[in-house]
Amino acid sequence: MKVFINPGHAPGGIPDPGAVNPVTGTRECDIAAQAGRLLANYLTAAGIEIKALQSDDLGEVCAASNEWGADVFISLHCNAFNGIARGTETLYKSFNGQRLAGFIQSQIIRSVNTVDRGSKLRDGLWVLNGTDAVAVLVELAFIDNMEDLKLLKTQLDKLVRAIARGITDYQTA
Ligand SMILES: [Zn+2]
Repeated sequence: MKVFINPGHAPGGIPDPGAVNPVTGTRECDIAAQAGRLLANYLTAAGIEIKALQSDDLGEVCAASNEWGADVFISLHCNAFNGIARGTETLYKSFNGQRLAGFIQSQIIRSVNTVDRGSKLRDGLWVLNGTDAVAVLVELAFIDNMEDLKLLKTQLDKLVRAIARGITDYQTA
């Protein structure tokens, strides 16, 4: 199985850092990049072929995944809303995307103490619409919520290991 990993937004935050925690300045692009590196390691260790690309050019991201012939496409992001909302959700568009999202979401909920916002159908997301692979977008946590930020800072490894298990669950289901 070939898994394409897309950490959200631009590497190093230029020109697009994604969401930023207003208190600490923690940037979504950096959390996503770190999560992407961890995920690449866990999937490689599980014998899965991976390719990763972080870019604010989503056309480039989709083309790279499609040209490579990815079976699975995982985009990694952090949510932001009003500082109060928190939790983890996995977004999908296709039938198999829904299955994959379900495996990932339930592994995450079993692994870390987060609010389960569920897996959700999303129609308007470029990376879900433009990729041929079975695609999901994981919103790891709300970067603008201080409890969720703590989760991202102290339990990212656990969270990402859960995503990797969700992918292998999908592979063997
Ligand atoms: Zn994002």
